[in-house]
Amino acid sequence: MLKLDASEGQNTLKGIELSNLYTVLSTEFLKAPDKVALQTPATALTYGNLHRQVGQMANWLKSLGLPAGSRVAAQAEKSPEALFLYLATVRAGYTFLPLNTAYRQTEIEYFLGNAQPAVVVCDPANFPWVQALGAKTGCSHVMTLDANGQGSLIDATQAFSSEFQDVLTADDDLAAILYTSGTTGRSKGAMLTHRNLISNAQTLHQYWGWSSSDVLLHMLPIFHIHGLFVACHGALHAGATMIWLPKLDVDLALRYLPQSTIMMGVPTYYVRLLADERFDREITRNMRLFISGSAPLLLETFESFEQRIGQPILERYGMSETGMLTSNPYETSEGLRMGSTVGKPLPGVSVRVVDDVGKPCAIGEIGHVQVKGPNVFAGYWQMPEKTQEEFTADGWFKTGDMGRWGGQTPQGQSIPADYLSIVGRSKDLIISGGYNVYPKEIESVIDDMPGVVESAVIGVPHPDFGEAVVAVVVAAKGAELDTLAMIADLKTKLANYKVAKQVYVVDELPRNTMGKVQKNVLRDQYGKKA
Ligand code: AMP
Repeated sequence: MLKLDASEGQNTLKGIELSNLYTVLSTEFLKAPDKVALQTPATALTYGNLHRQVGQMANWLKSLGLPAGSRVAAQAEKSPEALFLYLATVRAGYTFLPLNTAYRQTEIEYFLGNAQPAVVVCDPANFPWVQALGAKTGCSHVMTLDANGQGSLIDATQAFSSEFQDVLTADDDLAAILYTSGTTGRSKGAMLTHRNLISNAQTLHQYWGWSSSDVLLHMLPIFHIHGLFVACHGALHAGATMIWLPKLDVDLALRYLPQSTIMMGVPTYYVRLLADERFDREITRNMRLFISGSAPLLLETFESFEQRIGQPILERYGMSETGMLTSNPYETSEGLRMGSTVGKPLPGVSVRVVDDVGKPCAIGEIGHVQVKGPNVFAGYWQMPEKTQEEFTADGWFKTGDMGRWGGQTPQGQSIPADYLSIVGRSKDLIISGGYNVYPKEIESVIDDMPGVVESAVIGVPHPDFGEAVVAVVVAAKGAELDTLAMIADLKTKLANYKVAKQVYVVDELPRNTMGKVQKNVLRDQYGKKA
């Protein structure tokens, strides 16, 4: 436990900043305890309410006498109480471990074995097997919490006082571990410190112009950086209200949009809203900002949105390991929001694009995106070698994304040199006959063809070329796609080595909960067919 050095003042220990993330997030909202923090279709909870319930949970956690640095894991449906558990864990100085609600028993077994949490909170329906897994991994506190915010966790915490002194944490104490949704190999636990999360929350607060009069339409899951950190931290730090919906439900979204000022979503949310003609300028009249991230936003969605709603979606880019890295401008004085780009590095964040030997790429040239800054994580949980591999000798984190500065949009519009575009994950890069093929380039050409909604381009094993390009395409309702004609059209627009050898038409692309296309699933499926 850290002890304060009085001569250093209230908040330092021998020069180390001591600031609990919760202390920072609560500064504003503690001034307005009667303000609504969370509005659900059933109820409204004030900030006073939130703070008291978080205090009770923090006291309960403290009563367990857990060793410093203990992990609190939660696989719980979205409810206000699930958010309180996260905040209580951080406030009490422990480390929160959110788990995707889609994970099944074998996956949870891996996470519990790897992270060895001292407390696990699960859905009551899963309690028997989670308790059995807990017994195997030495976790004796297995509690329940259901979608209505009921369960043994709530029963246990009721008796505790709501008064709680925030635990002083050093900057590099862990606030959370986020397991990456790794599609190859075992998922890795990204260790995020109080400093990482505070710095990103403060930066985004400024950059996106958050204020206490904001109302955030929150429909994202809270086991992921997007819904838990980017969205919740933004609203809490500003003392703003969140409309708290379990997931994207277009009817509910339309009901609450007139009262909202900000929305965050993965690209699919915007596609689904646009598919409903009730989504219009009138219903969004109070909205000042729509933000998209976690997966690439199609240029077509960006354009139809601006046309329909009269304001452009702000696309930003980040990842579990780093928080947010770049954003299209909020203020027009900073520049225009451009579709198919992820904007400029956020203040305090350094981003570079380098070639295979680490030399900076020229403007317009595709390379590896690497980053540095107070937002960059402390490494992978119990994987020092993997951590070392993912950082360069001079301390840049290798994001695994390929990108470029400037260049041109697929329509030939030039992009300013300080705007970044992401062209895909480096593991999705296709090497055909020794040439690098960037799927995004081919996808953009295919997406522009009549009758195409979207596409995913993958590399599949090929005896001559090493890999061959294959396209998987979603057709518009009622459209008949002539795949041979599409290939012929590609031949007129792209160098031969980039042309898809096969085009498959499907009803939809496989996506994970954050809207990312699962190219590994497509590679497994089409790899053998080509
Ligand atoms: P996660 O850690 O699950 O948030 O995934 C992070 C990854 O999502 C990044 O490394 C990118 O590959 C992708 N990603 C996030 N935002 C965007 C974006 N706006 N455009 C393209 N890819 C994105």
